[in-house]
Amino acid sequence: MDGCAANPAPRKIMPGATIGVLGGGQLGRMLAHAGGRMGYRFVTLDPTPDSPCGQTARQIVARYDDREAARELARLADVITYEFENVDAGVAAMLEAESYVPQGSGLLFTTQHRLREKRALEAAGARVAPYAEIRSLAELQEAVARLGLPAVLKTATGGYDGKGQWVLREPSDVGPAWAEASRTGAELVLEQFIRFAKELSVIAARRPSGEIRTFPPAENVHVRNILHLSIVPARISDAVRLEAEQLALSIAESLGVVGLIAVEMFLAEDGTLYVNELAPRPHNSGHYTMDACRTSQFEQHIRAICDLPLGDTSLLTPVVMVNVLGEHMKRLMAWLPDADPEAARLGVEPKLHLYGKAEAKKGRKMGHLNVLAPHADAALAWISQSEIWRTEEA
Ligand code: AMP
Repeated sequence: MDGCAANPAPRKIMPGATIGVLGGGQLGRMLAHAGGRMGYRFVTLDPTPDSPCGQTARQIVARYDDREAARELARLADVITYEFENVDAGVAAMLEAESYVPQGSGLLFTTQHRLREKRALEAAGARVAPYAEIRSLAELQEAVARLGLPAVLKTATGGYDGKGQWVLREPSDVGPAWAEASRTGAELVLEQFIRFAKELSVIAARRPSGEIRTFPPAENVHVRNILHLSIVPARISDAVRLEAEQLALSIAESLGVVGLIAVEMFLAEDGTLYVNELAPRPHNSGHYTMDACRTSQFEQHIRAICDLPLGDTSLLTPVVMVNVLGEHMKRLMAWLPDADPEAARLGVEPKLHLYGKAEAKKGRKMGHLNVLAPHADAALAWISQSEIWRTEEA
């Protein structure tokens, strides 16, 4: 695959056409909901029968790297998109050759690898945490001496939700982290640990014509490396808000994005914004847009890849998105049937989204609530008094 592959010539995809989604998870499901409403049909490819997206679309049950299945997806669909970035390079090339993939494979190639991604970000004028490519224990030791501790060792490929990451706090952490990390066989990168005041994300959408819009920045809170809350509006100054939005705009432009790009950032204590990573797809931290913005990230992605005018991204109401993981499901189901006097007292409206996953495993994203509120503080107050996210394990 060519990292500089140009995007294909834009085509207008009109309602009635079939959108193929590589990956049948919750992001595909919510894309199908948004696009279905606009009159598009959906087909998804996913190895798990009755996948979250497969429940709302036609599904081809096959592995992601099954070329024959990818060819079938290409045959059935007028346009192809994906809901995760680790698309097999061979499959991506085949889809591009045999169908229309407006996002192109160049951006996937960049975001599949942390080092390529960092170089592309630097070329776009964005600041990233100081980093070093690591190929040996000696290089790791040298990089630790140069970047200082704490630092984070990450696999360059395949990591998500904190997997494939080792935080080095003391010099004595270096040896054991190297032993574990080198066992993965993946290329490695060491990053300086940013003492951030907040984590932010901005989602931008870009059409083939170059039209770009950003969604309001979300302030994200992770628990055990998994997104827990997105607070919108983010509790940041107007200057930081503007800078974060500008950063997402310039990254989308510089990378020639078509569709969505989620830009995750650290706001350091001194006010500096660092870009942590990119996702060329709808993002968990953009789920708040489903109930709180004039246009959701899913509708915007459909509009962008179909080359329709982008929707207004204005925020209609303060909101906190809170994830529902497997361990929260029992308490969520216990809460659901009854009226909630505390929600009424605080003036909040928790909007339920569940993804139709059969098994509620610990740490698995099962759904989310968009808690609409007169002020984000009221939504946070409701979440913190709720039994659903009680910290003890079920
Ligand atoms: P990532 O997989 O790169 O998104 O990292 C997962 C989480 O680990 C981030 O959301 C941060 O909370 C934390 N993290 C990752 N890299 C750094 C870093 N260089 N400095 C501080 N925290 C980090």
